[in-house]
Amino acid sequence: MGRKDRERFLRMKQQDPDYSGFRGITATPAKPAEATESVTCSVCRRKRNVPVSSIPVDRERFVCLQCQERQPAAGI
Ligand SMILES: [Zn+2]
Repeated sequence: MGRKDRERFLRMKQQDPDYSGFRGITATPAKPAEATESVTCSVCRRKRNVPVSSIPVDRERFVCLQCQERQPAAGI
């Protein structure tokens, strides 16, 4: 490594403690977006794009967030 390169390397390292040279991969991968699916709300009958994790096993009983907020205890 030439003197100039070494100086630049040290400067980069000072600015970014994680800097480990051009081969170092410091970028953290972006979180993958959660998969969504369109489910029909059992109350308003509108199709909603919701994260798969929030879809009930029985899709017929799916209530969208808007309806959940409107009728919190709707005797389901
Ligand atoms: Zn709804």
